[in-house]
Amino acid sequence: MSVLTKALVGGYVVVSAAETKDIVNRAIRIHNLSPVAAAAMGRALTMAALMGKEFKNKQDYLTAIIDGNGPLGKITVCADGDGHVKGDIVNPVAETVVKADGHLDVGSAVGKQGTLTVIKDIGLKQPYVGTSQLVSGEIAQDFAYYFADSEQQPCGVALGVGLNKKRCTSAGGVWVQIMPNCPEELLSQVETVMYAMDEMSYQFEGSTAEDVIRRFFGRFELQITESCPVQYKCNCNRRKINRIVKGLGKDEALSIVDEMGQIEVCCHFCGKKYTYTKEQAEKLFQ
Ligand SMILES: [Zn+2]
Repeated sequence: MSVLTKALVGGYVVVSAAETKDIVNRAIRIHNLSPVAAAAMGRALTMAALMGKEFKNKQDYLTAIIDGNGPLGKITVCADGDGHVKGDIVNPVAETVVKADGHLDVGSAVGKQGTLTVIKDIGLKQPYVGTSQLVSGEIAQDFAYYFADSEQQPCGVALGVGLNKKRCTSAGGVWVQIMPNCPEELLSQVETVMYAMDEMSYQFEGSTAEDVIRRFFGRFELQITESCPVQYKCNCNRRKINRIVKGLGKDEALSIVDEMGQIEVCCHFCGKKYTYTKEQAEKLFQ
């Protein structure tokens, strides 16, 4: 089970960490991800989990779309305020390229040019939508730039996914948010810690989110404020799929039934199949 932990450091810095190996392995199974796709999507899902925990209400919802010019194509991740995340990727089997230093070349696979769009639905009339340019395609830097550029929120983001062929061996992320009026001295000490936060996949090897927070911030005044499970869980249901089938229009839907014997709709996020017989399809349009 993946767990997310939040802490208040020095009274002015909010640190969230999530250990997400199980989430990444679920995504690999659902989408049959290549290693580089698993690294990119795993990082994005980890960030979505961290962001979802900022919501006040369980039903609040965010969608982050990483639309780069690399071979992976568009990556979409979603999270609610109740610890559930899900994701979709255009090209899950994109070829994996390894850099000279042995790391997977996630930046090139995502693409170094493009946009990161975040849509937050907190039950208001209009959802909040923010967009920024991608800076490296490595996901963590792209989100950090998004928060600075689009939400005027200075922060640090470190995300990592460790893989052994097509299995995730460790994964997680840390998000450090600086609150207003943070004293200069604390800020510079926290920045020093943030520069040292690399190799995130190793940090989470055999360690919980709380272990990682204590490893980096244990020498500060530290208060653990929350710890909760996070998981890959899709919120699709037949009622939502009914709307998609209705969206086809009666003529189109019934002609598919005539041709194929039934309508089959597969959820992009979890792979669940929904089928409609001729009678069920006709009933939808009554
Ligand atoms: Zn689904």
